[in-house]
Amino acid sequence: MDYLPLFHNLRGSRVLVVGGGEIALRKSRLLADAGALLRVVAPEIEVQLRELVQNSGGECVLRGYAEADLEGCVLIIAATDDPLLNAQVSRDAQQRCVPVNVVDAPALCSVIFPAIVDRSPLVIAVSSGGDAPVLARLIRAKLETWIPSTYGQLAGLAARFRTQVKGLFPDVQQRRAFWEDVFQGPIADRQLAGQGAEAEHLLLAKINGTAPVATGEVYLVGAGPGDPDLLTFRALRLMQQADVVLYDRLVAPAILELCRRDADRVYVGKRRAEHAVPQEQINQQLVDLARQGKRVLRLKGGDPFIFGRGGEEIEELAAQGIPFQVVPGITAASGCAAYAGIPLTHRDYAQSVRFITGHLKDGTSDLPWSDLVAPAQTLVFYMGLIGLPIICNELIKHGRSADTPAALIQQGTTSNQRVFTGTLGNLPQLVAEHKVHAPTLVIVGEVVQLREKLKWFEGAQSQI
Ligand code: SAH
Repeated sequence: MDYLPLFHNLRGSRVLVVGGGEIALRKSRLLADAGALLRVVAPEIEVQLRELVQNSGGECVLRGYAEADLEGCVLIIAATDDPLLNAQVSRDAQQRCVPVNVVDAPALCSVIFPAIVDRSPLVIAVSSGGDAPVLARLIRAKLETWIPSTYGQLAGLAARFRTQVKGLFPDVQQRRAFWEDVFQGPIADRQLAGQGAEAEHLLLAKINGTAPVATGEVYLVGAGPGDPDLLTFRALRLMQQADVVLYDRLVAPAILELCRRDADRVYVGKRRAEHAVPQEQINQQLVDLARQGKRVLRLKGGDPFIFGRGGEEIEELAAQGIPFQVVPGITAASGCAAYAGIPLTHRDYAQSVRFITGHLKDGTSDLPWSDLVAPAQTLVFYMGLIGLPIICNELIKHGRSADTPAALIQQGTTSNQRVFTGTLGNLPQLVAEHKVHAPTLVIVGEVVQLREKLKWFEGAQSQI
């Protein structure tokens, strides 16, 4: 190990920064965040840095560096573009045995800055000892995605009850078991889901020995339209901790792969004609599994609240008092549009966009056709393949031109994505010609013609 990692308490201590430019500013921000009193020395100091110093109670010294500037400082940073000056600052500091960092010059440093993941009070520092800072930053980026941004609040919660818990369990082993339970169970789940008051309530109940019998929880998670890269951080985290997964046909196998390996998987998919598992039965299954204390993942294609019957499922959970959280996903309209190069709105072509179910219940009567033909709006039909001839006919009949550009996007965002463009007039014909099948999204509106203009976009994002 070339460097020993330590965390430096700088609160209220004086730190010297030599240099007044962009790099000095970057370092000064970190130092100010850690509560240091800055002394910035440079003939010129840029405005933002000057403001930062003022706001954090430090001092700006507008002249060249002098050795006396080191006086009373516990840490020295040299951030000038003059290598000789940087070297001199380093020498002076090391002679006085004060830690020194010279930006981008590891040989002149006695201490170096790590890449930081800040979930204060939880802080993670990553260093390559100056050998490969880019690698350290990449690792930092990975950690940023793994560790929810609310992790700091979890540490904060623990801090508030630390003394109390210590009093309750003088034995270290017991105390450790207690906290492990807290950090890996429903209390952490609540806090990470942003429900701080509920988390605190559960923690108090646990401390007082009045915790309710562990019930499970349901995660209603949007898995996006297909490409696993479109999952949210929270979706992935919950997928990796759930005990059982209920999924349907729209969830791509590549996404299912990302669930915890040993989680039970239950297929509850519905096909149009044969309703594999009736909705009420799914609702009941969620309740039953949660009552057994399981963490149940209800994985939905796209977004659970957009034609996903998510509302019905949580209604039942709420009625039965089962805790749940809902994680939004990228809906098919956003995913498919982006991967097909069709902006859903555009200053010149569409000022609004409508998501419509094309699953027509009784023939033609149940859609507000005259609203749908208003100009300058994009229409996106979900589940529109079967009713497509009717949809196109009605739109034309109610006044939308048969030449209106339209697109079919089959299995959007996946490696099997297929896109066909035409007009309202010939869309049903395209379906027959190319044997287009579900899941397919239908986009109608002038914005579809932008796809031609944005051709370059396609190769970069998909394999059409
Ligand atoms: N909750 C989902 C929609 C479920 S309804 C969401 O927010 O995306 C099912 C319909 O969504 C399908 O019939 C199809 O029209 C559309 N759809 C879902 N995923 C799709 C995909 N990858 N490509 C094209 N259409 C998709």
